[in-house]
Amino acid sequence: MDNWERTLVIVKPHAMQHAGLIINQQLTQVGCLKLERVVETVPRDLVARHYAVHDGKPFYPLLIEQFEGRRVHVAVYEGPDVIKNIRDRLGPTDPAKARQLARETGRSFVRAIYSDPEESMERAKRENRATNNVAHASDSKESADHEIGIWLPSYFQR
Ligand code: GDP
Ligand code: MG
Repeated sequence: MDNWERTLVIVKPHAMQHAGLIINQQLTQVGCLKLERVVETVPRDLVARHYAVHDGKPFYPLLIEQFEGRRVHVAVYEGPDVIKNIRDRLGPTDPAKARQLARETGRSFVRAIYSDPEESMERAKRENRATNNVAHASDSKESADHEIGIWLPSYFQR
């Protein structure tokens, strides 16, 4: 299948208490879970490399702060068009927009269901921290392979 893809998903630190439900009730409906691990204490260099695309933007240091020293769940999912399909299931980057889109469409979004009901991009900016939007998912084949190489390099050694 030439649309067969792999993607990297991270359950972010603030959402780890919901990791089991996010994975089992949401993400495994979209893609096949191939490899996973909990990183107990995220090293600075891993999150710095992961978000290198945002290096130089004002919120880049906030992303390091959000992850460094904290606990995350990282996983590779595979499936047809899985990169787009998993991002569609997460929903918009801003949790307030995810909640709004869920209300308008009746669709289910991880970033609507599992975020703090008061969270928004606007609030995060006001409080000078990265948006707590539950999970990360790769946005292209290139970034997926880059990110899998950072968090789960053994995927490529099988
Ligand atoms: P994603 O691919 O949907 O996660 O969004 P991006 O790649 O654009 O941004 C990475 C992460 O940075 C997002 O998930 C948010 O947590 C955070 N973020 C993005 N833009 C901003 C911003 O303008 N301000 C703040 N505080 N956080 C942001
Ligand atoms: Mg992104």
